[in-house]
Amino acid sequence: MGEGKAGRSGGTAVRRLHVLLCGYEILPKTVSTRDRGGRFILAEPVCAYLLDTDRGWVLLDTGVDPGYSNDPLLRETLFLANGWSPPVVRPAHLLEAQLETIGVTCTDIGHVILSHLHYDHCAGLARFAHARISIQRSEYAWGFGGAPGAGYLLRDYGAPRLDWDLHDGDWEAMPGLALLDTRGHTAGHQSAMIDLPSGKAILLPFDAGDLAENFETEVLPGECHDEAAALAAIRRLNALRTEHDAEMLLFHDPVAIQAMRLAPDCYD
Ligand SMILES: [Zn+2]
Repeated sequence: MGEGKAGRSGGTAVRRLHVLLCGYEILPKTVSTRDRGGRFILAEPVCAYLLDTDRGWVLLDTGVDPGYSNDPLLRETLFLANGWSPPVVRPAHLLEAQLETIGVTCTDIGHVILSHLHYDHCAGLARFAHARISIQRSEYAWGFGGAPGAGYLLRDYGAPRLDWDLHDGDWEAMPGLALLDTRGHTAGHQSAMIDLPSGKAILLPFDAGDLAENFETEVLPGECHDEAAALAAIRRLNALRTEHDAEMLLFHDPVAIQAMRLAPDCYD
């Protein structure tokens, strides 16, 4: 699969893309922009994406567990005790509530694709025990490796009997849905490029770059498993955006989210 050519030769199996706004995180800006803006606090959105495809419903990432916002024990032990602010997940942000506006339930979703295993990307995988769950092999190995570190909460993704589907590098889920090796932020981070029926291309960088600033100035994410790879990922996504005149939908940008078509609206 040539870089940037994935899924673009034989039409697209993707019919439409829904952006699901799954909550907010309250973060020092340095979490998103390394060594830049330490006195600023941002309320960053957490997204997930639902694709209607010729092969059924596909969910990219699964949001953040509302229990981290609403359960006093989880909030205290997993967030406040570590000096982190708990996420904000209001009823309108619940994955199930948003899926309902589209007429979909979790059991309708046969394929889940995860960008990586940080807690704001893989909530409640036990809901998807019936589905195939695709991830980079290196991210899976890191997440289950015993001490993956801050941001990894095994209770999100450690449910037994999940149908894990492991990939190494770039791969194509179906025509029009390409997954891109953008390791760097984490050991096995992946991004997505989607071809819509209109001919328009959409790039989903996930945490390869949280904010527009990451792509405008090539500033690294605050947390990097591999700094050189993280920079290469930002440059790769910038190059793909130019090459395909793609629209980049940012996962964590508090300004960009306000201009997006949120579910039940869609991109098609
Ligand atoms: Zn992350």
